[in-house]
Amino acid sequence: MKQLLFVLPILFLLFGCKGSGISPSVDRSDSLIVIDAGHGGHDTGATSGGRYEKELVLQIAQRTANKFKEMGYRVYLTRADDTFIKLSGRTKIADRVDAKVFISIHANAIANKSRFEVVEGVETYFLQKTRDAKSQRIAKRENEAVLQGADALSKDVIIDSVLNGPKIIESNKLAIDVQGNIVAQLKGAYPDVKNGGVRPAPFYVLVGASRPSILVEVGYITNSKERARLFTSDYQERIVKGIVAGATRYIDNRKKELGF
Ligand SMILES: [Zn+2]
Repeated sequence: MKQLLFVLPILFLLFGCKGSGISPSVDRSDSLIVIDAGHGGHDTGATSGGRYEKELVLQIAQRTANKFKEMGYRVYLTRADDTFIKLSGRTKIADRVDAKVFISIHANAIANKSRFEVVEGVETYFLQKTRDAKSQRIAKRENEAVLQGADALSKDVIIDSVLNGPKIIESNKLAIDVQGNIVAQLKGAYPDVKNGGVRPAPFYVLVGASRPSILVEVGYITNSKERARLFTSDYQERIVKGIVAGATRYIDNRKKELGF
């Protein structure tokens, strides 16, 4: 009997929280999540098929914020409407409100029209210099709002100053948990979804982050099939569930490890 009493709680721990591993009944108010909808205002982000990245990512960011709140988290949205916020200000907000994690939401695009219907999929990025041409290209497009003005040397100095921080490893872990959960959610109804994986890239919106920070490219709005899906509530809800389940898994694991 004694043994059974010992085994039961372990069985519950192993199997009691099956599925996403998250339960709304847990008090998570000690964790504040910053959700950053990319672009806004005069900065439309990528545009294709009459759709704007800034609108898509605001819809997903608001849904994500609501889901985190349902789960008991505190949430801060860097923008709740169509306004422009400087890239450099976005991670500063995360510091000011002492966020546990910073999650920036974007949609992807390519320039080569002949490849519009070939290139698709969801990708999650964390800040790191890379020689990978694809990551550099995507970062360059997303960085455009800040590239005007600053010279290449000062940009390199900014990135170098954060590259050796411990947050890179933590951001990588957070990215793995979020990407895995988004893909699992989407594949439940859209088995052909392409998993673009976790990738390092020099995104300026992540520069200066003193906490685990990631950037999710939820899909390519230049791909007509993916664009149509991205603007449906079912697809958005699956992305949202994936982000929330992934971040929760990350936070819960850190709590066990280091009282995060
Ligand atoms: Zn973007």
